[in-house]
Amino acid sequence: MAIYVQEYKLYLCFQMNQKESYRHKGLRKRLIEEVRNKGIQDEEVLDAMGRVPRHLFMDSSFINFSYTDKAFPIAAGQTISQPYTVAFQTELLEVTRHLKVLEVGTGSGYQTAVLLELGARVYTIERQRQLFLEAQKTLAPLNYKPIYFYGDGYEGVPAYAPFDRILVTAAAQKIPQKLLDQLAIGGILVVPEGDQSGQKMIKVVRESKDSFLSSEHGYFSFVPMLKGKNN
Ligand code: SAH
Repeated sequence: MAIYVQEYKLYLCFQMNQKESYRHKGLRKRLIEEVRNKGIQDEEVLDAMGRVPRHLFMDSSFINFSYTDKAFPIAAGQTISQPYTVAFQTELLEVTRHLKVLEVGTGSGYQTAVLLELGARVYTIERQRQLFLEAQKTLAPLNYKPIYFYGDGYEGVPAYAPFDRILVTAAAQKIPQKLLDQLAIGGILVVPEGDQSGQKMIKVVRESKDSFLSSEHGYFSFVPMLKGKNN
């Protein structure tokens, strides 16, 4: 009985904040199952995604589709990535606790939250001012605390380099040299490379100062990585 009352209180609390309901949890469980069935094997990644309330990162027009495995429009003509793609990139990135991770393309902040759930120290950079500001409004109340930058991800964040991991969530025509420079030795960079006709997912492991081992991991579709910042 005591447990029941506790849970009910928790439920009311979630309802009042309109943050999280049992319905959301149920839908999310199904989504994670779908992503697992599509081939994601890293249970830590799946668990992390299972803890992030994606509906709070969505544009209100699409909120009913929060737990479908698709990308959706967010502000500034950008998108919140498809959950499968988030899982795929995160799995490739081999994130463990306390690693220093640079994310290029904060967007909605959803991927940022997944990285934080894995225990990473996250530095995230966004070139669209509106998204840079909105992501903070979404993440802060959920107690997610990355370090935010408003700027051009092609430059990386040299003041905080090197990074153990770098994740690019927009498509680069060519792998940015400055990001390679800011990768720690033994570090991993994951970046979709190519133009708008399609992009290859590339994983780069920095083996030593001058040696980079690169591998390809299938085709994806991202919004383009653009130069400069946008007001
Ligand atoms: N990780 C995001 C994906 C957003 S889409 C999410 O989960 O929602 C990619 C994002 O990359 C967009 O917000 C876009 O504005 C941003 N972007 C594109 N080029 C960039 C650049 N040069 N520097 C920083 N961010 C960039």
